[in-house]
Amino acid sequence: MNLHEYQGKEILAGFGVRVQRGIVAHNAQEAVSAAKQLTQETGTGWHVIKAQIHAGGRGKGGGVKLAKDLKQVEELAEQIIGMDLVTPQTPPEGKRVNQVLVAEDVYYPGDSETSEFYMSVLLNRAKGRNMIMYSTEGGMDIEEVAEKTPHLIFTEEIDPAVGLQPFQARRIAFNLGLSGTAFKEMTKFVSALYTAYIKSDASLFEINPVLKTSDDKIMAVDAKVTLDDNALYRHKDYNEMRDLREENPIEVEAKAVGLNYVDLDGNVGCMVNGAGLAMATMDLIKQAGGEPANFLDVGGTADAKRVETAFRIILKDPNVKAILVNIFGGIVRCDRVAQGIVDAYKNMGDSIQVPIIVRLQGTNAEIAKELIDNSGLAVHSAVQFQEAADKVKEVLS
Ligand code: GDP
Ligand code: MN
Repeated sequence: MNLHEYQGKEILAGFGVRVQRGIVAHNAQEAVSAAKQLTQETGTGWHVIKAQIHAGGRGKGGGVKLAKDLKQVEELAEQIIGMDLVTPQTPPEGKRVNQVLVAEDVYYPGDSETSEFYMSVLLNRAKGRNMIMYSTEGGMDIEEVAEKTPHLIFTEEIDPAVGLQPFQARRIAFNLGLSGTAFKEMTKFVSALYTAYIKSDASLFEINPVLKTSDDKIMAVDAKVTLDDNALYRHKDYNEMRDLREENPIEVEAKAVGLNYVDLDGNVGCMVNGAGLAMATMDLIKQAGGEPANFLDVGGTADAKRVETAFRIILKDPNVKAILVNIFGGIVRCDRVAQGIVDAYKNMGDSIQVPIIVRLQGTNAEIAKELIDNSGLAVHSAVQFQEAADKVKEVLS
């Protein structure tokens, strides 16, 4: 689950990570009162108004703006809330901004003593370890830094048995060129950040920039946080942070009816039972020259109702040019699934405009094939994996 910057910062602050202070606002009036409150608490007169969407590069797209007084806070909030913000990370039509974060300006106008760093914590799957990636080149596009000046990116691997060691935090501060108070502040920042990452069951923290202020404080100015969905049951309060408006609407709908669906870019919709078979089916589609349009595991109970729901969900994706149903009948019998497909097809009438290839294997597979072949519907049936692949190729060409 991805979070908004303001939510990510809330989690970080809860674990003692210093963050740029801010208050979320849903309209211009709220933005003005937020700014007033921040001025009272921090003494700052300048504020930064930051669009809250699930995408980075907001600064480049005009979603992060500096306000020197309350009038500007109001104007900028008015302008940013409701806009469709286009950044290098959004779809071309942009993302609607529903709220802004009104934050204290921590750069202090005219100040040249600040530095911006990059820092992320993530799981290195190849090594099976968490690592901290960091760079002196903060505030910019880190992919570009990685490409042009890879020697400016450092990594620190963490041994899960002992956790982050103090010498590692010191090495990070050293490599970032810090000394004195800033050095100490950085070691504290890094260890609090790593604790937050572990305790919140996150799978990614990306803090770009981490700021060294002119008075040597180290703080998170931005926060991109991804939490591990499988661990959310341990964090009931984080569940409430989910913003469905930011998520893929088809995935949200599938989740609501208990289907395991992931939207992909291709043209062949898949309906499969079991995650392993779903992966194999996606390979099969690629081999046949297609690209999977989705991952969909209907699970163990592929009855008519469920099959119909799954069809409806797959067909919401306008890119789908064919559907491959690949079901292994173990506990669920193939003839029941076949009946489900036939019933769903009949119920849905004209809404199915694309060819369907059905491959049923396992208990009562032959009866199932007969059922489909005799249904009079435009459904291609197959028993073998390869047969199904050939049919996919045929209908795509
Ligand atoms: P992103 O563009 O989506 O990554 O959003 P960020 O939160 O990283 O903000 C973009 C840029 O705005 C940062 O790299 C900073 O340079 C700048 N910025 C953020 N907060 C402040 C602030 O308090 N004062 C000033 N002057 N600039 C800021
Ligand atoms: Mn950023």
